[in-house]
Amino acid sequence: MMRMCKIAIFVCLCSSLLLAQTPARHGIDVADLDRNADPCSDFFQFANGTWRSNNPIPASMPRWSKRWAAGETTKDKLKDILEASAKQSNAPKGSIDQIIGDYYGSCIDESKVNSRGLEPLKPWIAKIDSAKDMAGLQRTMEDMHDILLVVPFSLSGTQDPHNPTQVMADIAATGITLPDRDYYLGKEDRFKDARDKYKDHVTKLLTLAGWSSTDATAATQTIFDMETKFAEASLDTVTLRDPSATDHKTTFAQLQALAPHIDWPEYFRHKQLPTTVDLNVQEPKYLAAVDRMMQETPLADWKTYYKWQLVNSMAPFLTTPMVEEDFAFNGKYLSGASEMKPRWKRCVESTDNLYGEALGKKYAEKYFPPEAKARMQEMVKNLLAAMKDDILSLTWMSDETKKKALEKIATFYPKIGYPDKWKAYSHVDVKRGMFFQDMLAGRRFVVEDDRSTIGKPVDRERWGLTPPTSDAYYNPTMNEIVFPAGILQPPAFSMDAVDAVNYGAIGVVIGHEISHGFDDQGSQYDQLGRLQNWWTDDDLKKFKSRAACVVDQFDNYYIEPGVHHTGKLVLGESIGDLGGAKIAFMVYQKSLEGKPRPADIDGFTPEQQFFIAWGQFRGDAIRIEQARVMAQVDPHPIGKYRVNGPLSNLPEFQKAFSCKADSAMVRQGEKRCEVW
Ligand SMILES: [Zn+2]
Repeated sequence: MMRMCKIAIFVCLCSSLLLAQTPARHGIDVADLDRNADPCSDFFQFANGTWRSNNPIPASMPRWSKRWAAGETTKDKLKDILEASAKQSNAPKGSIDQIIGDYYGSCIDESKVNSRGLEPLKPWIAKIDSAKDMAGLQRTMEDMHDILLVVPFSLSGTQDPHNPTQVMADIAATGITLPDRDYYLGKEDRFKDARDKYKDHVTKLLTLAGWSSTDATAATQTIFDMETKFAEASLDTVTLRDPSATDHKTTFAQLQALAPHIDWPEYFRHKQLPTTVDLNVQEPKYLAAVDRMMQETPLADWKTYYKWQLVNSMAPFLTTPMVEEDFAFNGKYLSGASEMKPRWKRCVESTDNLYGEALGKKYAEKYFPPEAKARMQEMVKNLLAAMKDDILSLTWMSDETKKKALEKIATFYPKIGYPDKWKAYSHVDVKRGMFFQDMLAGRRFVVEDDRSTIGKPVDRERWGLTPPTSDAYYNPTMNEIVFPAGILQPPAFSMDAVDAVNYGAIGVVIGHEISHGFDDQGSQYDQLGRLQNWWTDDDLKKFKSRAACVVDQFDNYYIEPGVHHTGKLVLGESIGDLGGAKIAFMVYQKSLEGKPRPADIDGFTPEQQFFIAWGQFRGDAIRIEQARVMAQVDPHPIGKYRVNGPLSNLPEFQKAFSCKADSAMVRQGEKRCEVW
């Protein structure tokens, strides 16, 4: 472990003399601090600056911190599990060992993948070519949707936001390849550059897939023109954050009227869904545009578009030159990494993507002890209680709205570690040595697993992340907060860490997820997960004006000259961080009551340790390429602003570090934002 406890040496020595003493607990990492930085000017630099300068971002990564490093270390553990499964020659067909072992075994065999060359693509290309008219093309599209190639629209299961106990069919806009519409339409140089690079990439990948260079160049223009039309009809990333902007309950007859050139009865028949199923169309304008294109765009162009989508989606699973070209654009150009991850790691990630609960079950058994679950349950309970106290203490909210907010707190549903009910993969046909087919089998499983939920009561035991994932989420229609085993390890959480570290890291993460229930999106859902207003008009107005403060704060955070965060895009995450830091600090303070005060660490008080833990957990270095894409499409701000943004609004932080009122880390008066 990198985590060392300098000042705890004394305690360690003592406890070695006293039998059966509790071992010394890890504290903050004082060696990671940049002591030349002023915590009141740039806390992000102070808390973790030395770590970042001593640990440059590895060539294959777009971001790096102890948390990202822990995520990569998890992959070493997953590799051990997969190699052990792959070695078992007699694992029964359909068992977890057989499925993940054979999938990993197929994936890792690069020479076999290369020797098959473009062979696996051929039946799919032939299928697209065989379409004689738009009806034939639709059959092709349906087959492609079955293997997770869902363009130019997708139909998947989602909770009905007006009746969240039921899963409805949800049609979304999925026609573009670049990160969002501005990449096609934006006038700024960075978008123009991305368009040029993208076109080069399309041409190169098509050439590798067997097109002549003339054909590939012509195809690229066709593809780009079609995607530009899709982009023009799509909503922008900020608008997509508003749940009401994509809430369009639609009857089957209305769907047919909206897009009459798609044979919907045939599409639903293929999906094995009754046409009576409840249905939402996220972007009706987009679907109408697709329909127009089905009349106006020649069949040959549609075929070109589908072939590109096929080649693009399958490139990472084909020959080495195709994998490399895929990386050159998506990994290098868009994320700034200079080296590909080793094949074994890409195979681990792919197994986690497609067979995640099979692999995750083994991971959780081995690496997530029941004590950790119990400790997390206690922390979540304390954080929920703190959020309740916080709401009760708000001076700006009426009792009427508070009552509703507390009802919502009471129905929060935490999930910790891993699912109680696992997905069953036993029927999936995975054969060693048939990597492409095994990948398709996994994709078919993912599609069918989702489709099977539509039109049925919601299953609250389903998870949206796999157990090894180093992440967490809030789902408003379920009113649930979810913490997979993968994030429940240092630096976020440790059974051996002092409370300041656990509350400052995972505590703030828990508070963040709880606060999502009350951010710009979550606040629109009630205690039963319904998209339904529960605020008085006056309170809602006050909430929005408080949120506007955060929007303004983040609008002014720059990535580089000319590129800054969009406050409205990162609003939910930033309300989450601000509320999360506040209530986690409340819980930590409460935990100290009636106990002897914990020791200072290297002169840092317990309160300072709490904030340093957050600064170190979120202390990411990030490549500029990745930061640019994040600023454009990611609702999360970059690490620097996830640390300095919320803390500069907290009087508790100012007090802990005795910052002067005019410090950069202290927002004063009207500039100080407080939502929760
Ligand atoms: Zn979040």
